[in-house]
Amino acid sequence: MNNPFENLEPNNVWQFFYEITQIPRPSKHEEKIIEYLENFAKSRKLEYKKDRVGNIVIRKPASKGGENKPMVALQCHVDMVCEKNADVEKDFLKDPIEPYIDGEWVKAKGTTLGADDGIGVAMQLAILDSDIKDLGPIECLFTVDEETGLTGANGLENDMIQSKYLINLDSEDEGQIFIGCAGGKNTIGYVPIKYQLGLEKNIAEIFVSGLQGGHSGDDIEKKRGNAIKLITRIIYDLLENNETVQLINIEGGNLHNAIPREAKAEICFDGEEQYNQITNLVEEYQQIFKTELKISDPGVKVTINKKGKTDKWLDRQMAERLIRLLYVLPHGVFAWSQDIPDFVETSTNLASIKKQNEEYVITTSQRSSLESAKENICNKVRSAFELAQAKVEVNDGYPGWTPNPESYLLKIVAEETQKVLNRKPVIRAIHAGLECGLFSEKFPGLEMVSIGPEMKGVHSPDERLLIPSVQRTYDILINVLKRINI
Ligand SMILES: [Zn+2]
Repeated sequence: MNNPFENLEPNNVWQFFYEITQIPRPSKHEEKIIEYLENFAKSRKLEYKKDRVGNIVIRKPASKGGENKPMVALQCHVDMVCEKNADVEKDFLKDPIEPYIDGEWVKAKGTTLGADDGIGVAMQLAILDSDIKDLGPIECLFTVDEETGLTGANGLENDMIQSKYLINLDSEDEGQIFIGCAGGKNTIGYVPIKYQLGLEKNIAEIFVSGLQGGHSGDDIEKKRGNAIKLITRIIYDLLENNETVQLINIEGGNLHNAIPREAKAEICFDGEEQYNQITNLVEEYQQIFKTELKISDPGVKVTINKKGKTDKWLDRQMAERLIRLLYVLPHGVFAWSQDIPDFVETSTNLASIKKQNEEYVITTSQRSSLESAKENICNKVRSAFELAQAKVEVNDGYPGWTPNPESYLLKIVAEETQKVLNRKPVIRAIHAGLECGLFSEKFPGLEMVSIGPEMKGVHSPDERLLIPSVQRTYDILINVLKRINI
């Protein structure tokens, strides 16, 4: 196909971007793009190194006038999310992306464009290929497999970054400078199941649904309902006030990084009169939840249905302990940042409760941009599990990137952004994981920022890149590289 970018500026950036769109690079299948980068380095006689996980760093000596400047690292990821519209035929392992220009935007025919983070790759190659004066030594790091779990950054070897400063080019909001992200960990509790037998009772299923859920990082401060927390309140009330109502099962939620949208509980009861009381209580709770969530989650729904008979249910003591555990497990924002306005510092998500074999598995996930605060919230969740005599497992997780508003690199990037865009940049952090979090753990003292041109619809076939923002971002980058001198 034809290269639609022949007349775009900065021309070398766009030519590299076009070449990259022609190279298949789904996450975990980056061999072809890494080979391309290796050949790029060889043909220009630039020093390069690949590490065991497949990341590659290419280094370029200082240009004329930059001999006394410190080395700066530029970094982006080479993999892309491969999504397509249902009516499009595309083998992402073999076929090129088909980019085209639509007004001020670049898009791809029916698929993701891969500007996340191909445009970062293109800018780094353009700088390595340039003869711009007054630049200190530059190392361009290209990581693999960002999109499916940051495994490239996680496995990065210790000599792959030698600089004191790193500029990550994986942001998609022009005019915003990112200076921090959250680290995360999962804390999982296991509650052994005990049953109790008795005279046959009727079964009813209570179902909480209609909630929005969302991402446990990005959406945690939106005060949306947590289906497990809501259903727990109903069951707690039922067990507290009815000795003859028993709990058979309770399950809800799905992924560890999603706020649970649905939960269900099976209970058993004696006769019609009791069923009517339970139905009234369920209706009352639906009204209570609708009032409490009238702004953030107005679609909440609680339903109840009859469902056959049983003579077996959860042991009463065990059930009461389980419900109290679910009641006390924290969920939501735990602390706000002290230096960045409206930024969640620490949170926890009560993500799911699932019945597996003879135990309940309760998954929770904690996030914080402060390592000590992450440990603190994990221990709080852990303590709740331990008080309920649950077995606890904690996974390794990934580290956060603590914002440093006093950073020299940030000061330079903010000033150059203001000059090029003619407006004050927004300085932000996000409550989710970024590759920079992993770098900050491996390279303590490394000053970092993350910037990038304007993109919309990333990770979907609607992904698009704002053409003039590429020139502006590139200008900011070059100006910053020329200025860094300590
Ligand atoms: Zn990305």
